[in-house]
Amino acid sequence: MKVLVINCGSSSLKYQLLDMRDESVLAKGLAERIGIDGRLVHERPGHEKLTFDLDMPCHGAAISWVMDTLMHAEHGVIKDKDEIEAIGHRVVHGGETFTKSALITPEVEKAIEDVSELAPLHNPPNLVGIRACAKEMPGVPQVAVFDTAFHQTMPEKAYLYAIDYALYEKHKIRRYGFHGTSHMYVSQQAAELLGRPIGELKVITCHLGNGASVCAVDGGKSVDTSMGLTPLEGLTMGTRSGDIDPAVVSFVMEKEGLNAQQINDLLNKKSGVLGLSGVSSDFRDIGAAAKEGNKRAQTALDIYVYNVVGYIGRYAANMGGLDAIVFTAGVGENDTYVRERVCEYLGFLGVDIDPALNAKRGTALDISKPNAKVRVLVIPTNEELVIARDTKAIV
Ligand code: AMP
Repeated sequence: MKVLVINCGSSSLKYQLLDMRDESVLAKGLAERIGIDGRLVHERPGHEKLTFDLDMPCHGAAISWVMDTLMHAEHGVIKDKDEIEAIGHRVVHGGETFTKSALITPEVEKAIEDVSELAPLHNPPNLVGIRACAKEMPGVPQVAVFDTAFHQTMPEKAYLYAIDYALYEKHKIRRYGFHGTSHMYVSQQAAELLGRPIGELKVITCHLGNGASVCAVDGGKSVDTSMGLTPLEGLTMGTRSGDIDPAVVSFVMEKEGLNAQQINDLLNKKSGVLGLSGVSSDFRDIGAAAKEGNKRAQTALDIYVYNVVGYIGRYAANMGGLDAIVFTAGVGENDTYVRERVCEYLGFLGVDIDPALNAKRGTALDISKPNAKVRVLVIPTNEELVIARDTKAIV
């Protein structure tokens, strides 16, 4: 069975075609600058990456180009659309409605639309992608895989905010959490790597990418996570503030004369390590600037590390123990400095990493010294694979 995985953003569309007989990736790529001009980056294993400038006025056009490219005589990997038996979509917000992945029906589409007000930047483009695929490949079953679903096992004490309960009842304001597909995948991989049943493990997974979140996984279930109603809460991120005093919002609005949209933009796009450092949201740039003596860049890194450590400590305490910490995503998988600094703080918990192992890259690895009580693992995440597996299982 060949499954096409689609991750649709407001102006981009990531795709990956997998052969589920052996879970191999046949091709993957990114259509970007949709609605602006249009560019398609297409990759096949063992071949050079190709870039095409194409006219992409809308997501429908983007998906048509993706299909053309996948079927192209020279750089395609299939002969006919019919070879694609199912399509899996990443959908960011499933609200309280979706506790697991779902076959897309008109009712499911409506339910995704209904929770869109909780993720106005993410769910609408996800729906656009679903509809564009339905038009391009009518009759091919589609599955929605939700970023929030894995966290639906959180207990009330972790997901309710201490605000008027009526706001939860009326508007469903609560913690939902995101990156669920990634947290689930790497926690399961961690159990495999440790050779222990996941049911008996307490794991903290750190998805540190452009967006970043930490998740407490007890016995294979998410019991707490740092992102909240939206992906703004929790850790300091590339451009997002993470946790701040909520009163900062109205204070800054008043002082700077900002409206709701503007303060939202400030906290989502101009804060985090970018706002702190004034250098970049990319950890490679900030690391380089800090090395050259840029004080604000160093402070941004210090704050970032301090907050990751804080969440790990909190979740270890809340779970009453800890067997393993997992680092994943862009920063988690690649930034040896961030891992080293985080682990330095956690010696008291029984964390002790081997610097030589910490310097390695690319594969799933236990980077702890042999006698360390809490294991530290680096595990590349693979959200597309989880989406393809769920899609296959459901279809
Ligand atoms: P993601 O959202 O998982 O794709 O992560 C993207 C982020 O990972 C980038 O913005 C960088 O900050 C970070 N990143 C990627 N590669 C490296 C690297 N080699 N060293 C440090 N940070 C990296």
